[in-house]
Amino acid sequence: TKVPAVTLNNDILIPQLGLGVFKMQDKKQFMAAFNWALEIGYRHFDTAAIYGNEKWLGEAINNAEIDRQDLFLTSKLWPSDFDDPQQAYQDSCKRLGVDYLDLYLIHWPAPGYAKAWITMEEMYHDEQIRAIGVSNFLPSHLQDILTRGSVTPAVDQIELHPYYQRPELTNYLAEQNIAVEAWGPLGQGSNDLSTEPVLQKIAAAHHKSIAQVVLRWHIQSGRIIFPKSVHQNRLQENFDIFDFELTAEQMQQIKQLDKNQPNGHDPSDQAYLN
Ligand code: NAD
Repeated sequence: TKVPAVTLNNDILIPQLGLGVFKMQDKKQFMAAFNWALEIGYRHFDTAAIYGNEKWLGEAINNAEIDRQDLFLTSKLWPSDFDDPQQAYQDSCKRLGVDYLDLYLIHWPAPGYAKAWITMEEMYHDEQIRAIGVSNFLPSHLQDILTRGSVTPAVDQIELHPYYQRPELTNYLAEQNIAVEAWGPLGQGSNDLSTEPVLQKIAAAHHKSIAQVVLRWHIQSGRIIFPKSVHQNRLQENFDIFDFELTAEQMQQIKQLDKNQPNGHDPSDQAYLN
């Protein structure tokens, strides 16, 4: 199976499906998951300095002896490093054992994000990074950096799943030509999506699982996703979403499941920084 690519606003291509490595906290499990993922066909990996596992990802990549240019690697700048994004970027690259990232994001719009963004623009203009973007930004934050800066973020990585669809934010991002990366695409496995009757019915009609239907809905909506799993069967399941298609009616039925109900932190909630 070939994963489709999304063209970002600076013309670089990103595989629409990847693997997120948030909360992979056991090294042995991490290494096994990475090797299965690679074997299955995953080439896009989403990490962050704050996840604490960039080093493992670097080690896994190095052991796999895969060509760097065949991978798409994303990491993120944590607010405690807003003072020196250049150093933080170099540290991430070093831990990952690579000399560039494909995508580097501001992790949260905490105070100081605009200044950090200007530095990231300079790093991008220097051709240190293939694309730069943001995460958990709302239109007010985006307007702020669009006004002050000179580069439109390639992506905004935001929480998004059937119970939290954020139509206003995604309309705004589409207008600005900023691609949507949906984090927690499966609702982080911690809400009622897995027993949602509407999804059960659609899944049965396609002989697919609810997870596959949800991921397929993201793909058909044009979003970039990297569902997390450390289990071989789920890694495979989450990858097997390119051999069926949801009908317009099924897409509409999923649209109607929106409850405006996040699982994660609201970016305006500063508590996460403590
Ligand atoms: P997710 O929606 O990908 O959920 C992962 C959980 O769903 C797993 O732990 C498991 O319990 C369950 N799951 C996975 N595959 C399944 C399957 N086939 N069937 C049933 N259950 C399954 O949530 P996530 O890991 O939080 O999000 C994905 C990635 O997004 C992260 O790994 C990370 O890279 C990124 N992320 C970014 C931010 C941010 O602030 N930018 C925040 C959270 C996550």
